[in-house]
Amino acid sequence: MRRPFVAANWKMNGDLASNANLAQAFAAGIDTSKVDAAVFAPHVYLSALSEQLKGSKISVGAQTANTAASGAFTGETSLSMIKEVGCTHVLTGHSERRVMNGETDEVVAEKTATALEAGITPVFCIGETLEERESGNMEAVVARQINAVIDRVGVEAFANIIVAYEPVWAIGTGVTASAEQAQEAHAFIRQLFAQKNADVAEKLIILYGGSMKAANAKELIGQPDIDGGLVGGASMIAEEFVAICAAAV
Ligand code: PEP
Repeated sequence: MRRPFVAANWKMNGDLASNANLAQAFAAGIDTSKVDAAVFAPHVYLSALSEQLKGSKISVGAQTANTAASGAFTGETSLSMIKEVGCTHVLTGHSERRVMNGETDEVVAEKTATALEAGITPVFCIGETLEERESGNMEAVVARQINAVIDRVGVEAFANIIVAYEPVWAIGTGVTASAEQAQEAHAFIRQLFAQKNADVAEKLIILYGGSMKAANAKELIGQPDIDGGLVGGASMIAEEFVAICAAAV
């Protein structure tokens, strides 16, 4: 049985006080005996968040990290730095970084590989744009994104990678994929892995992301191949995120 996993992606939102309030509510409200939970916060808040979530079993993650160990990379943050401040997870391939920071499939593969080498669990994000879906290319796009990482790290490495399917047209738009659309994509992703390694495919945690909220979480996560959620907007409302975690059980 795959254990449900629900992650909050706070993006570039929040401040010390609001983060502390959310962390306290998450720690008090999420039953981590039944669901794994993680919070991906802006780099400057990771240290404080690790303290705030200490003893709660809720993991802390960074929204990105550089592939280099150290050096002349002004403004960047290394994997050892995020690890030192308590991170166990890192997002790779989020569509906002693919689009706004020009992160190609190759860059995403390298970031995923170096995170694994550093002992940090990558939450590797994939998903098609509306144009790609409407032109019938959803499967080709997600297969291309996945194969770029498999080519770099090998399929067995996915025993330590979480995949997040996030259709770009559903992120931050209020438009959620229907449970059928999401399940269809997740089944395709799992079957793509199954062709390479049945055991990895069976154990692979695949999250859905894209305007998930308390009202639609149960139906989405109730689908056979959906193992949890990566939640943006709704993760900044304590009751919403706690309810999504409860719905995942
Ligand atoms: C995300 O950014 O990963 C995301 C899923 O955002 P939202 O829930 O706001 O669509």
